[in-house]
Amino acid sequence: MNQLYKQLILDHNKSPKNYGELPDATHSAEGFNPLCGDHYWVELIKEGDKIQEIKFHGEGCAISKASASVMTKSVKEKSAEEALAIMEEFSKMIKGESERSISPSLDVFKGVRDFPTRTKCASLPWHTLKNALEGKKLAQTE
Ligand code: ZN
Repeated sequence: MNQLYKQLILDHNKSPKNYGELPDATHSAEGFNPLCGDHYWVELIKEGDKIQEIKFHGEGCAISKASASVMTKSVKEKSAEEALAIMEEFSKMIKGESERSISPSLDVFKGVRDFPTRTKCASLPWHTLKNALEGKKLAQTE
């Protein structure tokens, strides 16, 4: 794993962004990755089409936690449509299907493409976000 990737993962684990509960959430979902044991809740407040506020909590490996932290940061104040478009790009990137740059903090997750089980850790927070936006309560990786 490259240095940048390691550093980002460490930073976000030490002080994850938007970590906590959101009692006034309009949308929420639970995400579980049985392969690794990652287990998170994503809660958000949507006003009109905009994600005004988003938080996550739960426990899991360093990669899933860093990914959840960067995910919340990336979609805050975006529309649901924009958030899902970022998710689509992110998913292609970590699977090695796209080389397009998304943002510096998302691009470092390219590092997981060499570790197939790790891609599920990185994508879990995004699947959980998608389910929350679509009104589904549970997201589980296969
Ligand atoms: Zn994991």
